[in-house]
Amino acid sequence: MHKYCDCSFCGGEVKEEKVELDYRYNGELYIFQNVPTGVCQQCGEKYLTAEVAKKIKHKILTKEKWDKIVAIPVDEFTESVTT
Ligand SMILES: [Zn+2]
Repeated sequence: MHKYCDCSFCGGEVKEEKVELDYRYNGELYIFQNVPTGVCQQCGEKYLTAEVAKKIKHKILTKEKWDKIVAIPVDEFTESVTT
């Protein structure tokens, strides 16, 4: 049984892997490790099952103590880039 459809961008095969996932919610960035995620074997696009997405949202809304809090360097890209 296939949990994931073929990639909607490139049509590649999507296989489940445990990956580190960055997830934005309400303008905050959350990082979840070891998340069972469908990963396109061709382009790397990630797909979440509805169940996993629901669990992630539930954690964000209810979790009080996180395993780790990290500072994330942010830079606004102002350099001009020649193409
Ligand atoms: Zn793909």
